[in-house]
Amino acid sequence: MSSTLQVPSGASPRIQSFSQYCRQRYGHPLGKIPLDTGLPCPNRAQGGCIFCRPASFTPTSLRPSDSLTTQLLRGKRLLIKGRFHDYLGYFQQESCTALPTDQLLPLLEQVLSQPDCRGLILSTRPDCIAPDLPAELSRLIDKSGKDCLIELGLQSAHERSLHFLNRNHSFADFTLAVERIAAQPQVQIGVHLILGLPGENRADMLQTLQTVCALPIHALKLHHLQVIRGTHLHTLYKRSEVPVFSLEAYMELLTALLPHIPESITLHRIWSSAHPDLLIAPKWNVLAAELSKTLHATMQYRNIFQGQALTGNQA
Ligand code: SF4
Repeated sequence: MSSTLQVPSGASPRIQSFSQYCRQRYGHPLGKIPLDTGLPCPNRAQGGCIFCRPASFTPTSLRPSDSLTTQLLRGKRLLIKGRFHDYLGYFQQESCTALPTDQLLPLLEQVLSQPDCRGLILSTRPDCIAPDLPAELSRLIDKSGKDCLIELGLQSAHERSLHFLNRNHSFADFTLAVERIAAQPQVQIGVHLILGLPGENRADMLQTLQTVCALPIHALKLHHLQVIRGTHLHTLYKRSEVPVFSLEAYMELLTALLPHIPESITLHRIWSSAHPDLLIAPKWNVLAAELSKTLHATMQYRNIFQGQALTGNQA
């Protein structure tokens, strides 16, 4: 998946985007180099999540069979060179913390030892946070002097939706993972949510957002539901059981939800764009930069900003 969220040049930031956060934290934007430990997600043995097909979000530069050294070199050459000075190592494939802690830490140390690496993002499932991992990871991060964010896939706080998606974890698994990670202040917490799941209305989505934002989290990755070719969700879509957002409806939803997200939470993503040859729906055919521009123009026109509903500073 691509589409880094950016504030159009000249526009005042109405959301705390990832690039905005990087400017504040590092003084300039950072790239993300996708990395893969090579271990399949444990949920695949149980059928996998019904929307998930790794090819839809794997960059062409990434070959899971390559060593980490090669993945880093290719990522630097193809994704970073000429665009960014430095980067975060992003273990976004599968569920990287499914690796036993003693096997995972040396891989993370290898990435952290790169002088141009400013830190890590570890994408994973809530039920893959081993009790010993946060403290061990915290020690490693402390030693490196760099940053680390664990991005927990949740998708929805509603059990019926977790069941529908075949997540095979509960909301309680998620809160336990948050509790374990939050005990280590060196490690930040991000949460991945999908908006527009079948059977969820706006109130359900807002409830998920508010529930998650009440926890000690630092970042959110939101996106609209996408139907990817060959997934079980695709089968349901062909049976007309999966409504998807029009661009206008999704923009409207975002303008309603963003005011409920605290300003302190960084938005790494608020939409998504799977590989076009695998994306079945919705097909908006709009570039990410255009989406950013439209959203910011709408927010500016309506005087909306992130966190607005929490400050009482209503438009
Ligand atoms: S937990 Fe993540 S990687 Fe695993 S099947 Fe679900 S979406 Fe895919």
